[in-house]
Amino acid sequence: MTATLAFLFGLALGSFVNVVIYRLPRRMSLVRPRSLCPECGTPIRARDNIPLLSYLLLRGRCRDCGARIEARYPLVELAAGLLVVGIYLKVGLSPALVLYGIFALILLAIFFIDLATMLIPDRLTLPGIGIALIWHVVFDRAEMLQYLVGLLLGGGLLLIIVLVGRLVYRQEAMGLGDVKLAAMVGAFLGWRLTLISLYLSFAVGALWGLALLMAGRAGRRSSIPFGPFIAVASIVALFWGEHLLRYVGILLRG
Ligand SMILES: [Zn+2]
Repeated sequence: MTATLAFLFGLALGSFVNVVIYRLPRRMSLVRPRSLCPECGTPIRARDNIPLLSYLLLRGRCRDCGARIEARYPLVELAAGLLVVGIYLKVGLSPALVLYGIFALILLAIFFIDLATMLIPDRLTLPGIGIALIWHVVFDRAEMLQYLVGLLLGGGLLLIIVLVGRLVYRQEAMGLGDVKLAAMVGAFLGWRLTLISLYLSFAVGALWGLALLMAGRAGRRSSIPFGPFIAVASIVALFWGEHLLRYVGILLRG
């Protein structure tokens, strides 16, 4: 029952994530005006603004002009619903639900914004760092060091990679947006899970780049956004990072 409520709440939050994905890179206000059809400019009626359901009922088209609604909208809503219910099932109705819920939804927004614009907005990562640090001060002060080290380690590692890329290879492999994103992940997850997250994002990112090269879809110098890899890897680390750490520990002990 409460899991269903968590899912529905997540769907509604997903609608807001869609607004953030569309408006933040365009420097538009997040609250006003109400959502419009990007094609014909008609304000979206309340009954056509029900997460997931409206998209299905309208068969993915605007009621007024018939323009196709991007599949990203229901996808983001569904992803947000699943993330919130997954976090609820993991930590229950607790302050951690708020913390990780905000974390996951910021990552969801960054995934799509970086994919579309190759930019990671400071307006997501910097408030994220602030929220994570304040939360840990209030609810988990004994473990504070773990998160401060996470912030410095995540941001520091990526900063080194950015600087080496610029100075040695004269190539922009990553940007400062990725540095701030990794710092944010560290502030939310602590340094141990951040290492898992960064390891996974580099491994998957390298494989992805190799696959694109082999398929002839990318040249040696073409750039792909790295934020989506960090975002997905951080979600994996959030849900299964502790298991992975234990598994790695068992392997190391032989
Ligand atoms: Zn329209």
